[in-house]
Amino acid sequence: MSLYRDTGVVLRVQKLGEADRIITLITQKHGKVRAVAKGVRRTTSRLGARVEPFAHVDVQFYTGRTLDVITQVQTLDAFGAGIVGDYQRYTAGCAILETADRMSAEEGEPVLRLYLLVAGALRALADGERDASLVLDAFLLRALAFAGWSPALTECARCGDPGPHRAFNVHAGGSVCLRCKPPGSASPPYEVLHLMDSLANGRWDSAERATDSTRREASGLVAALLQWHLERQLRSLPLVERRPFVGRQSAGEAE
Ligand SMILES: [Zn+2]
Repeated sequence: MSLYRDTGVVLRVQKLGEADRIITLITQKHGKVRAVAKGVRRTTSRLGARVEPFAHVDVQFYTGRTLDVITQVQTLDAFGAGIVGDYQRYTAGCAILETADRMSAEEGEPVLRLYLLVAGALRALADGERDASLVLDAFLLRALAFAGWSPALTECARCGDPGPHRAFNVHAGGSVCLRCKPPGSASPPYEVLHLMDSLANGRWDSAERATDSTRREASGLVAALLQWHLERQLRSLPLVERRPFVGRQSAGEAE
């Protein structure tokens, strides 16, 4: 029996059989881990309460044949206590967990930076000192950067002209100059891109001066960027897997 320990945040829990759960965590050293917590759905289980979504935990696993098994859990931060009772914090928190789950696609692939971003964002949400939607947008912009999808926010995404520019195009990669601007680009006010730049770089004093309408418009652009990149990433998967199948079939028909 091979044991290992790691620190992680619980992203998701799923039922398994009568009494068990599969727990998905984003960890410091082992990337995304899916492991079985046995007996946690019994009301007497002390382990069960510790492996709920948003929990920041220190876990001991043993390596199983298919899934690893959780043998010990210590709570580091019960972030859920400060999150689940407030609708805005809860929805922002769920978006953070779901994004982290989708961005850490490969199990076991190290994602230290993403883990740190998740833990930091949940801590800020649970503390409740910052606007939950700003915390979420700051997390999403940094998660985009982690994935290599940082939008251009001052320079032109196409020609690199230093800017700042008024046009913004999700498909083109962010702000674009008048010469490069594709049809159908948005024209957000300067303050919107300035807010996104402040959030991406942790300049909270500047970010918190933004008006509600600026915050709303920035949230819309951040959501559009995330959706575009995640969908494109997912759309590429079926294409990769389908091609050899179609190829074999058509080769068979030709014979
Ligand atoms: Zn340009």
